[in-house]
Amino acid sequence: MPRILDPELRRALAARIRYYNEMGIYDFYRRPLPDRAGEFAAAIAVDETEPTFSTSRPEPGEEMSPRKSAGAAMPVVEENIFAVIALKPEQSVSDPVKALKIIREDLGDCTRCVLHKQGRKQIVFGVGNPKAELMFVGEGPGADEDAQGEPFVGRAGQLLNNMIKAMGISREQVYIANIVKCRPPGNRTPEREECETCSPFLMRQIAVVKPKVVVALGAVAAKTLLAMNASMMQLRGRFYDFRPAGVRSNDPNWDGCKLAVTYHPAFLLRDPRQKGEAWKDLQMVMKEFGMKAPGKGTE
Ligand code: SF4
Repeated sequence: MPRILDPELRRALAARIRYYNEMGIYDFYRRPLPDRAGEFAAAIAVDETEPTFSTSRPEPGEEMSPRKSAGAAMPVVEENIFAVIALKPEQSVSDPVKALKIIREDLGDCTRCVLHKQGRKQIVFGVGNPKAELMFVGEGPGADEDAQGEPFVGRAGQLLNNMIKAMGISREQVYIANIVKCRPPGNRTPEREECETCSPFLMRQIAVVKPKVVVALGAVAAKTLLAMNASMMQLRGRFYDFRPAGVRSNDPNWDGCKLAVTYHPAFLLRDPRQKGEAWKDLQMVMKEFGMKAPGKGTE
């Protein structure tokens, strides 16, 4: 049962968030909902505090622990405070190229999570059409991406290009990004805490690009974007209504988009038998756009 915040407390929270915004702080973490509304103010922390997720290593791709601060546990009224008040600097800019540049500048030489000191060569921000109708979101950069500063440029990137081409479009027409922007050492799965720390910037990118459909590539991307814990089998095969968490678009005509889940190209390289399943996912996306495929698959 959602609780209504005391108006005085609501005003105090709004003033505090504005104060942080004015200092250039836009990213907030929420701890589990306290028992009493009066404790909620103490539960808000700016990004120098510890996020509250378990740092235990998930099973690759499948068993990430549930988000403790996912919106589902948060009363609607309180969620709206963040949605309404935590305006981002790029929201005053209508040109998506400039808006993405503002987000990149805000990211800076990021040291917000441990991945900054685990051998990254550079931050891999995102690439593609800033007005793309279709966006792909992967897990994190690998060695090739880390070296070149662009997502999906290695073998998995080549397969993604082929998947995009099979849909009858080109890589230049879509926007591509990852949940984490720095390479996890040894290409390990990003930890929950790293995903939670980095993904607010991706959410802002999505709100700027305003795609019609986001395709989450793999379980880490899907679970982080959807804030839900489920197997790939459960996640695939349907569309989700998606709104980037903690940010809204400055376009009154864009209030979110559809999200589909398919296998990560790196997984398809390891298990090519699943390419047919991935193709079914892409066909579902194509149907949404009213597209017909010139090719037959992802080879
Ligand atoms: S992964 Fe993201 S949050 Fe972590 S250091 Fe890199 S840019 Fe910053």
